[in-house]
Amino acid sequence: MSKPLTKEVIQQQLQTITLPGSQGDIVSAGMVSDIFIKDGSVMFSLSVAAEKADDMEPVRKQAEDLVKSLDGVEKVMVALTAERAPGSSTGAAKPAPSAAAQRPARPQQGGGPAKLEVKGVKDIVAVYSAKGGVGKSTTAVNLALAMQANGLKVGILDADIYGPSIPRLLGITEKPETYPGTRILKPLKAHGLVAMSIGLLVEEDTPMVWRGPMVVSALTQMLRDVAWDMEGELDVLVVDMPPGTGDIQLTMAQQVPLSGAVIISTPQDLALIDARKGIAMFRKVSIPILGLVENMSYFLCPDCGSKHDIFGHGGAHATASDIDVPFLGEIPLHMEIRERSDDGQPIVAIEPEGEFGTIYRAIATTVAQSLEGAVKAAPKIVIE
Ligand code: ADP
Repeated sequence: MSKPLTKEVIQQQLQTITLPGSQGDIVSAGMVSDIFIKDGSVMFSLSVAAEKADDMEPVRKQAEDLVKSLDGVEKVMVALTAERAPGSSTGAAKPAPSAAAQRPARPQQGGGPAKLEVKGVKDIVAVYSAKGGVGKSTTAVNLALAMQANGLKVGILDADIYGPSIPRLLGITEKPETYPGTRILKPLKAHGLVAMSIGLLVEEDTPMVWRGPMVVSALTQMLRDVAWDMEGELDVLVVDMPPGTGDIQLTMAQQVPLSGAVIISTPQDLALIDARKGIAMFRKVSIPILGLVENMSYFLCPDCGSKHDIFGHGGAHATASDIDVPFLGEIPLHMEIRERSDDGQPIVAIEPEGEFGTIYRAIATTVAQSLEGAVKAAPKIVIE
C-alpha cells in the first residue's frame, strides 16, 4: 500500500531536486514554504532571490511535476515568490510568454514591502469590508459590472479566501485552464467581465487554514500568472478581498499593488466601528480610501416601492464625513438584488439601466473620479 500523503513525504521528494549550479537541494536551502495539503490539492511556494527568479522557473516546474506524480495528488500549485522591490531594475519571476501587456499596474505608493507585479491592468481596486455578510461580494460584482456599463474594461478577482463566492454570483462553473506549455491561466468570462477566483483554484467549501506564505503564493498565481489582458488591457481589476483586519488581510493590502480601496458597510453602528478599523488598516499601508458604500441602506418595499429606514439609514454617510473619506452612495436592501445574485445573473448585468443599475453606475462613476484624484495625489517615487 502506498504511504499516505503528508508534508514529510512531499518534503522527502523535494529533497531530490538540486539547485542549478550547486550540490544543495531546495529543501535544505530553506526555499520551500510550509506545505499545505487538502483533499489531494497541494500548495506551497519556493522563495528565491529576485535576480535568480528567471533561472528558477525550471526548478519550480520540476517541483510541480514531481509532486503531481505522487500518489493521492490531484492538483498542485507551486509559486515562485520573488518580488521586485519598487524602483529596482531586477525582474521578478517572469511568466512564460502570455498576452500580458508590458505596463504593470499603476501605483506602487513607495515604502513598505515589495508589491506583486501585475501586467495588463491599469488600476486595481479592492472592495473590502471589515466583517462578513454585509454584501461585499454582491457589491463587488455589481460595481465591476457598473464600471463596465460605464464604458471601462473590467476584470474581477475573487481573493476572499474565507468564502469565495464570485463564481456563484457570476454563474461560472468551468475550471480555469492554462495556455498550453505555460503556467499562465486563462481568466474565465462572465457577463463581459474576465474573472478569476481562489474558489476555482482550490475546492469550494473547503475550510482552509491559510498561513502567510500560502496567501502570498495564491495571490502570486492569481495576479501574476493570469492573462488578465486576454482581451486587451484592463482599465480596472476589482479585487474582492477577504473580510477582517488580521495579518492575512494586511498581507494582501501590502502585496497587491492597489490604486485604492472601496469600503462596504451596513448602516448599523457596529458594522461602522468595524469599517473604521478596516479603513485604519488601509491607511497604515498607504492605500488611498476611494470611499464608503452603505449597503442594505434602507428597505425598499417591493409592493409599494416606499423606503423604510429600518437599519438606522445614513450611518455610513455620517461616519464617512467624520473620518474624512468620500461617501460613494447607498444601496437599498431588495429581494431582487439577492435573487439575481443567487442565480448567477447579477442585477447590473441584467438591467444596467434599471433602478438598481442606475444606483450602482452612479457609485461606479464616483469611484472612477475618486480613483483619478487618488492617483494624482499619490506621492511621487523619487529614485536617487
Ligand atoms: P459578504 O461578501 O459581505 O459576505 P454577500 O455579498 O455574500 O456578503 O451578501 C450576503 C447576503 O446578502 C447574500 O445573500 C446577498 O444576496 C445578500 N445581499 C447583499 N446585498 C444585498 C442587497 N443590497 N439587497 C438584498 N440582499 C443583499
